[in-house]
Amino acid sequence: MRECCACAALVKCRSRVVPGDGAVPARVMFVGIAPGRFGGDLTGIPFSGDRSGMLLREMIARTGIEEVFITNLVRCNPRDERGRNRDPQRAEIDNCRRHLEAEIAMVRPRVIVCLGAMAWRQLAGRDAPFSPSRPKIREHDGAALYPMYHPGYIIRGAYNAHRYARDFRRLQRHLAKTAPR
Ligand code: URA
Repeated sequence: MRECCACAALVKCRSRVVPGDGAVPARVMFVGIAPGRFGGDLTGIPFSGDRSGMLLREMIARTGIEEVFITNLVRCNPRDERGRNRDPQRAEIDNCRRHLEAEIAMVRPRVIVCLGAMAWRQLAGRDAPFSPSRPKIREHDGAALYPMYHPGYIIRGAYNAHRYARDFRRLQRHLAKTAPR
């Protein structure tokens, strides 16, 4: 995975490949978009060193969720021509899918939390409605797929932080009902 050169544009702009990180096996897997320019691209660890990472890890800690594995749809930091973070392109997500599937097979999570509509549509299907406030749980390879807003959405002020905390408590209740590993 660390040697991957499947996406020419990403090979040029990334500082490193950022594989998923956490417990193996793990009860819960969180899937974001791609490592950030000032986060995973520098630290080598997804959701670390930037505000999205701090918020996600704080929410996970607050809800007492243990045994987690954190990863992304894409393992390299995508940048635009000015060096700013950009969304990964469809082909980049497709190229990285085999790495995501390898991580899912290795981690064998009971629940996969999709952080944002991009991760949700990639795993639940393009037509699956993304509704984190009234989660409709789908399935992927024996794991429950659970929709949640991306922490960046809360940081940008597009979703209320108290509601986000409530969504995490709902996730915690859902986890309490799932069988332990
Ligand atoms: N950091 C990540 O690793 N993924 C994101 O989607 C955002 C920040």
